Amino acid sequence: SKAKLFDQNTEVKTTFKDVAGLEGAKEEVQEIVDFLKFPEKYTSLGGKIPKGALLVGPPGTGKTLLARAVAGEAKVPFFSLSGSDFVEMFVGVGASRVRDLFKQAKEKSPSIIFIDEIDAIGRARGKNAMSGSNDERENTLNQLLTEMDGFGTNTNVIVLAATNRADILDTALMRAGRFDRQIYVDLPDVRERQEIFEVHLRPLKKDKDLDLDFLSKQTPGFSGADIANVCNEAALIAARNGKKSVDKQDFLDAVDRIIGGLEKKNKIIT
Ligand code: ATP
Repeated sequence: SKAKLFDQNTEVKTTFKDVAGLEGAKEEVQEIVDFLKFPEKYTSLGGKIPKGALLVGPPGTGKTLLARAVAGEAKVPFFSLSGSDFVEMFVGVGASRVRDLFKQAKEKSPSIIFIDEIDAIGRARGKNAMSGSNDERENTLNQLLTEMDGFGTNTNVIVLAATNRADILDTALMRAGRFDRQIYVDLPDVRERQEIFEVHLRPLKKDKDLDLDFLSKQTPGFSGADIANVCNEAALIAARNGKKSVDKQDFLDAVDRIIGGLEKKNKIIT
């Protein structure tokens, strides 16, 4: 069977309602939603709509979620691929995937292209000049730059890319007319964690005296993805114990379990 070239979702349901916290980032991407919806309004005075923006921040903070929400809010199709897919790829495949991706996105424009983990293809060039294994990555990166440069002013495709390592990216990516905007997506503070809990508690049957303020204070350093995990884990723990609703103790047990998992992960890294 033919491998899937990339994920294409023509009807994105995600909206800003699904993204808790991240007020600054949401404000910045709201402008991108506007560019997609009303391009003439912005080009009427001769201005050029930006082609790309980089979403920068730690893992699990909602970069992918936010990119999908841009497509959902603008009601445009969402094309995505992950930089890590290119790591072990045969010569020529990466560049042709990028070409296909842009071709499809242009056919369906206005549209969004999302490239997750762009650092996997966009690391600064020349650092490993001696190893031939980097050729494929470089070809892929070059194709990406070529495609972005080739966009006409009224193509109306906006490319969003995510990374947690903006510092190692090839500066060619950040040049004017490419990913010349950076949007920061940080770990949530205590108030934002509470908002994220609210989003992920919506689908759960929860105990009526669940204290969100308390839960948010029990989870310093947690990302949105960690909190989503806690909520799901708590529901499973409660169900396993035959409860009719998810209560405070289930959440505390879930938090402990997630912290245990995070500690294990860190041990492997260090
Ligand atoms: P990575 O860098 O690891 O790819 P990411 O920043 O792209 O991570 P997402 O994949 O968007 O993170 O987040 C994973 C999941 O965590 C989301 O699908 C969502 O369920 C939850 N999540 C993360 N951030 C938020 C947020 N701000 N509001 C609500 N849910 C969130």
